Amino acid sequence: MGMCLERTELEAVGVLAGYPEGGDVRWCNPVAVIDSRLIEGGELFFALQGERMDGHDFVQAAFDLGAACAIVSREWFSRQGASIHGEGMRYLVVHDPVKALQQLAGSYRAKFTGPVIGIGGSNGKTTTKEMVAAVLAEKYCVHASKGNLNNHLGVPLTLLGLRSCHEMAVIEMGINHPGEMALLCSVAKPDFGFLTNIGHEHLEFLGDLDGVAMAETELYRDVDSRGGTVFLNELDARLAAAAGGLQHVVPFGAPDGKLHARHIVLDAEGRPSFTLCHEDGEIPLTLNFAGRHNVHNSLGAATVGFFFGCSPLEVRRGLESLLPEGGWKRLEVFEANGVRVFNDTYNANPDSALMAMKTVCEVPCSGRRIMVLGDMLELGESSEEAHRSLGELVSRLPFHALYTYGGQAAGSCRSAGSKCRGHFTSHNRLLELLKQELEAGDLLLLKGSRGMRLERIAEGLRMERI
Ligand code: ATP
Ligand code: MG
Repeated sequence: MGMCLERTELEAVGVLAGYPEGGDVRWCNPVAVIDSRLIEGGELFFALQGERMDGHDFVQAAFDLGAACAIVSREWFSRQGASIHGEGMRYLVVHDPVKALQQLAGSYRAKFTGPVIGIGGSNGKTTTKEMVAAVLAEKYCVHASKGNLNNHLGVPLTLLGLRSCHEMAVIEMGINHPGEMALLCSVAKPDFGFLTNIGHEHLEFLGDLDGVAMAETELYRDVDSRGGTVFLNELDARLAAAAGGLQHVVPFGAPDGKLHARHIVLDAEGRPSFTLCHEDGEIPLTLNFAGRHNVHNSLGAATVGFFFGCSPLEVRRGLESLLPEGGWKRLEVFEANGVRVFNDTYNANPDSALMAMKTVCEVPCSGRRIMVLGDMLELGESSEEAHRSLGELVSRLPFHALYTYGGQAAGSCRSAGSKCRGHFTSHNRLLELLKQELEAGDLLLLKGSRGMRLERIAEGLRMERI
């Protein structure tokens, strides 16, 4: 008969969080898993009800793979018969396994005494998190969120990965609804807050830019309420306004700030080289990944690094060692038959589209600059206007042609005037046309929301490579 802990959710999680000695659960090093396929042995398996899948369907699989304990809902547990009991099948029965995961993570985090840095904002969270972690890792043992694990599940899972060897934690915090930042903060209790910027994200839920600012700057208020410090991107007026009354603010980003960048040059693949000027001197820097905006992101990461006592050499080594690998590759550049393809199809909103456009307009190019724009989704009521202004921008920037794909991007096509060479609703037709049109020396920017699957165009062109 499996061991069942029938308690109220709080008590039950409290038992876990208290890490009683003995037993076969890794009480002191909880490895929390929500995907049974990741179980290697000894983990806590949280059975979560998703939109398409119910983790409870995988409880048996989790035990077969060696899970030490399954955290399941009371509702599911009471519906089951004897078949769910067996040797080593230990259950923690709770009202809501998601809350249990968050509470367990919160209790566990409370035992961590090193600084926890929460990174939120509209654009560039993952990139900034990777940069901050890379810089700090030159001096400290850093635990950071993996990839894009930044939501109400990713944040607690990340926190549960903290180990006694870690000296600091860098946690990405992503939201799309009002109130979510407060929830993430209640779990992560960050001592330091860093918001990248306020931009056009999830406007269908957050309303407008002021709504985004209100929701994101919950991080500032939370950090401030515990006497913590905020790293402020001074270039963002909404962030600067929200940081107005805070106790401890470390600003960065202003062109005349203590830390600023000079002599910025992008190479043919969009990778920036620049001089990072700090109080005591200058650091020459070259990043391994594309994007003009990453100069600004570097300033943020360097500011955090200097704050925590990293030397200029450590800051340089951290930033220059960072490679766009694993789960955070964004603006990818490859060549196909002499055409340089800037594949930024990971996601899109007007801010990140602007950054990508600025980048490709700045890199040296002997041929034509051509852009494919897919719909930018989740913009709510501002969608029409956002697509229209992007088309206008294309008409003003040194692009030779714009092709659009989707439904809403048709508005960009109309406003781009003579530069718009066609609107498509089929990937295949668009790909065929591009293959005919593109010539060696051209530069192609692919940008669109993930849902538009423009990576198929990138893959189609890549396969054409000789
Ligand atoms: P997500 O909401 O998916 O977690 P994110 O905030 O983590 O996104 P990244 O994945 O780091 O952001 O980058 C996404 C895109 O944002 C990049 O492709 C890039 O074009 C853009 N971006 C990165 N940094 C900035 C910045 N400082 N300002 C504006 N855009 C940026
Ligand atoms: Mg991210």
